[in-house]
Amino acid sequence: MENKRKPYQLVSREWKKENTVIQLKNTSIGDGTLSVIAGPCAVENEDQIFTICEFLNKHQVKILRGGAYKPRTSPYSFQGLKKDGLILMRNAADKYGMNVITEVMDTNLVEEVAQYADILQVGTRNMQNYQLLRALSKIDKPVMLKRGMSSTMEEWLLAAEYILSGGNYKVIMCERGIRTFENATRNTLDLSIVPLLKSVSHLPVIVDPSQGTGVRELVLPMSLASVASGADGIMVEVHNQPEEALSDGAQSLYFDQFGELMGRLKTVAPVFGKSLDLESEKILS
Ligand code: PEP
Ligand code: MN
Repeated sequence: MENKRKPYQLVSREWKKENTVIQLKNTSIGDGTLSVIAGPCAVENEDQIFTICEFLNKHQVKILRGGAYKPRTSPYSFQGLKKDGLILMRNAADKYGMNVITEVMDTNLVEEVAQYADILQVGTRNMQNYQLLRALSKIDKPVMLKRGMSSTMEEWLLAAEYILSGGNYKVIMCERGIRTFENATRNTLDLSIVPLLKSVSHLPVIVDPSQGTGVRELVLPMSLASVASGADGIMVEVHNQPEEALSDGAQSLYFDQFGELMGRLKTVAPVFGKSLDLESEKILS
């Protein structure tokens, strides 16, 4: 008889029926709450990251994002503050009891990044860097695997399989848009993959509408659409001065836009069976 087994195993629902839940400090991903991950594209300086972190904490965001090692298309663009960025971000997050997610670009940086981050992000350009995936399979920290911009779902799941098969089961999938002929948006956010992914895999799914659209005005509607698609959370870029941002300013939300987004999520999430992980209603009411 023909073997209809999928090429991936450990990431599949056939292997494990229950949703994988990623436990963090004060929160978890994939437990039925809607996780909101927010912060600047890149850590730029102390004032910037502390200002943004303080603002996000007021909105009860529990996971701070920010790049310290930045994969930039041009070698002349800002490459990130590197280790100094990791330290600044860790200090800002610790001040407010938040978790840190940041990108690890290279195998030889896994140890350093894991020392400061609560979740290690694999960027779209590295989804098929198998050496990196193998190195991440040996650490005891969650990994968020962004979809390769030209990758199929199967390739993406097989990349995740590298991490699980090496012994790290704490993997989060992140849809961040794929390359298509459409150039009016930076990428084409493939939200149809979310319910499909959730049906074939037990891993939590986050959507990044910031890289997914490249346009800050599109972040709110696509965040709401992400919730409707069944995502376990969203990751958005927010900046205190988007026009001064050293990377991805055009897709970074202003503070008031982020406030509006949180208000809308609070209304919309319950409609789709998710609650926002908020201790009190005082900030958003
Ligand atoms: C980012 O999150 O800032 C980023 C570089 O993401 P991606 O790898 O999806 O482009
Ligand atoms: Mn970015």
